[in-house]
Amino acid sequence: MHVLVVEDDERITSFLAKGLQAEGYVATVAAGAGEAVALLETLRGEVDLVLLDLGLPDGSGEDVLRHLRRRDAHVPVIILTARGDLPDKVRGLDLGANDYMTKPFAFEELLARIRAAVRSGAQPTATELVVGDLRLDLLSKVAWRGGRRIELAPREWALLELFMRNPTHVLSRSRILNQVWDLGFDPGSNVVDVYVGYLRRKINRPGLEPLIQTVRGAGYRLLAP
Ligand code: CA
Repeated sequence: MHVLVVEDDERITSFLAKGLQAEGYVATVAAGAGEAVALLETLRGEVDLVLLDLGLPDGSGEDVLRHLRRRDAHVPVIILTARGDLPDKVRGLDLGANDYMTKPFAFEELLARIRAAVRSGAQPTATELVVGDLRLDLLSKVAWRGGRRIELAPREWALLELFMRNPTHVLSRSRILNQVWDLGFDPGSNVVDVYVGYLRRKINRPGLEPLIQTVRGAGYRLLAP
């Protein structure tokens, strides 16, 4: 278990690093937002959890969180905040943090929160949709299939969200036009079919099961294998 500690207060980082190492964790410390972002790039895929201070000398922990969530929707993040005020915590949670602790805190409690965050990190959160091996992050608006990141244009993203909120249901062209294009009538174009085609090309790869099925005369449906 590799924990990235993003905190500029040296007393806290040395206390956390020693404590975490004594518990068998690998701890890496970043003393600022820039260093944290650089480490997240270097250690990409290796960090299992981030402890994140919000008030950093060269920026806000929120910037680090935003950067992290654009890259990875799943690494659990616990915010360490000296500010007791609610708006910061709420904003942090909205940006995709899993939990927060107000400084000063008891190390035992932090360890319990770390274990809980790592457990929940394996579960889909309210900020993402999961159908089979397909995941859609509702915050960063990025999709993954089997761990591969898929960049989506806004309409493709809205279309995929509609499918993923209604797996196995047949969605008619008029419903798709209504919910994705906000059109209450069929403009007589094949825009839905064109976009379903774009989306299929993005989420499919040779060897993977096609997920969007055409239901003749009715519309399309997302399979949930
Ligand atoms: Ca600080």
